[in-house]
Amino acid sequence: MPAFADTVRTPPSLIVVISVDQMRYDYLERFAPYFSTGGFNRFLKSGATFPNAHYLHAATFTGPGHATIGSGKDPSEHGIIGNNWYDPGVLDEKKWSWYFNDQTMWAPPPPTTFDPKLPLWYQSAVGSPVYCAYDDSVTATAGKTTGMSPRSLIGEGLGDRVKARFPGARVIGVALKDRAAILMAGHNADAAYWFDQSLPGFISSTYYHFDPKVFDFNASVPGYTPGTAQWNLSGIIPQDDLPAVTFDPPAAWGLKNTRYGGTFPHPIASIRALTYSPYGNEITFDFATHVINTESLGSQIGTPDVLFVSVSSTDYYGHYYGPDSMEVADGFVRLDRSLQRFLDTLERRFGDRVVVALSADHGVQPIPEIAKLRNPNIDGGRVDLRNPAQQAQRIRDLAPLRVEIEKQLAIRLRVPFDVNAPYSHAFVFFFEEPSLYLNHTRIRELKLDPERVKQQLRNVLLNVPGVDEAWTDTELRTMKRPGEAEQRMLRSFLPGRSGDVLMALKPNWIWTWGTNSTTHGQPVENDTHVPLLFWGNGVKPGRYTMPANPDDLAQTLGAYVGVEAGGVDSHVLPVFNSEVLSVALKDLKASADDVRIDKVEINGDRATVRIWTGKPKPAPPGTLSMDCGVGHTYVLERQNGVWVIVSRGISQC
Ligand SMILES: [Zn+2]
Repeated sequence: MPAFADTVRTPPSLIVVISVDQMRYDYLERFAPYFSTGGFNRFLKSGATFPNAHYLHAATFTGPGHATIGSGKDPSEHGIIGNNWYDPGVLDEKKWSWYFNDQTMWAPPPPTTFDPKLPLWYQSAVGSPVYCAYDDSVTATAGKTTGMSPRSLIGEGLGDRVKARFPGARVIGVALKDRAAILMAGHNADAAYWFDQSLPGFISSTYYHFDPKVFDFNASVPGYTPGTAQWNLSGIIPQDDLPAVTFDPPAAWGLKNTRYGGTFPHPIASIRALTYSPYGNEITFDFATHVINTESLGSQIGTPDVLFVSVSSTDYYGHYYGPDSMEVADGFVRLDRSLQRFLDTLERRFGDRVVVALSADHGVQPIPEIAKLRNPNIDGGRVDLRNPAQQAQRIRDLAPLRVEIEKQLAIRLRVPFDVNAPYSHAFVFFFEEPSLYLNHTRIRELKLDPERVKQQLRNVLLNVPGVDEAWTDTELRTMKRPGEAEQRMLRSFLPGRSGDVLMALKPNWIWTWGTNSTTHGQPVENDTHVPLLFWGNGVKPGRYTMPANPDDLAQTLGAYVGVEAGGVDSHVLPVFNSEVLSVALKDLKASADDVRIDKVEINGDRATVRIWTGKPKPAPPGTLSMDCGVGHTYVLERQNGVWVIVSRGISQC
């Protein structure tokens, strides 16, 4: 098997990448006493654990995170800067209508007067919102959703690289959420499957070469509703232990999202409610098993298939009940059992021919009101910059903070402010976390300098409670020495997709879409610190305390099977035994813990290893820090079965 890494005795025929949607690293430690032997503990006890894995990009959302897991690249590279963005060039009614169906808007409180002579707010647009997986040039196989594809994703990911190297390899993505399945699996995936609750069941789109037989599974979906039609506490965490691992007093119950009740038992009276419970994770793992069986994944010795699985229910109940809730505690120990069943199945079927990596697309912050219940001194809250509901026509129909921003900006720009003016007079046209998009038509009408408007908007935002940092896009793009906060935002920044002014919130502050629930999306510990775990074929067990990041997942698995996958911030983690790496490290008189391994690429009897040593230098003006010191590049050849260094190179960046 010349394309595989040097010491692989039995090459993996199946690579499984699991993403747990919304999982903070601390869950692994907090709920550890209640894990089974073969779920998370399979990674923690007999796999490789990276307890210091953090996302490096600022906008920690589902679309960007899954694209990063699948590609090893930052959002500025793979292009998925958010779940949505605003395309200023094209007014597309279909995209607007999709947006209004999908999003929670600020609804102006009554009484509002509708004026038939005035256009609706978005009708003064010159562009459209874009959902990260939206593609109306393809159609969904069933259900209510529009066609979806990885059209907006830029460049190749792990799956694409594996398919290029191994022509028979198959790559498939599975999740309840379309964007999770699609963006991990990449452009050349054979199929991505996601869930449509109106069906109910899994669907795909005409972008893919799916096998319709997989949809036989859908008949079993309603059967996942428990006989009680309720989500009850499982008892896996004893009642007496719950107060120690949660913060969920009765006073918190009304502060959660109460759509399915603020505490146990939660009624499961619909398929939607089912997906907001741990049973949604079981459906996902069982469907993934069904796909393995139907598609005979992992059956070609010497050719690795790649299966990406994202469990999404964790994010649904995580948003509703928050990280300190009994629901999240019970949800994760139940997830552990579902994971155990899935991994048992993989092990039974593939033995040591399977390798599994697990991470999360982002963490989550506490529900601010519950955080304050726990500690009244906490500085936290909600920043409500929601776009208005479809029927809005005037500036007064905006959320109060948006009205205030318009007013303050008008004062700074010395132009008249009228709350009753039509929406086309607003300076800020559109909000999508973490960007504000300006109304450039209005700025031209008033003959204002757009840079000055951006700068004044940035100044207004810096006075908004909860806003930590704000930048104009021009500032970010031309900054000579970007600091850490700027580098994080630059990793989530793409000209043409990002807005005119971008913001980061303080810890414990969240973008809000209502008055309860919580969310993620900030460059703060709670949102960036996630699990990064490996188990299976070739994995060297251990707890690796070096700094790591989910970009490394694709790069590391890629190096293992002899392909290079990843971007500027990804490295090969020293998870897999590698003679090539050992020879290079011995030459450097270094251990894997002291260096940053950037590349281990093996091509037949020839290999390249790149290792960085020394302290990273400050970033050159106008660029991101590449986190490099001195680069050592080794070219090795296998001669009579032994790897020999044939050239050494030193570089600096
Ligand atoms: Zn997510």
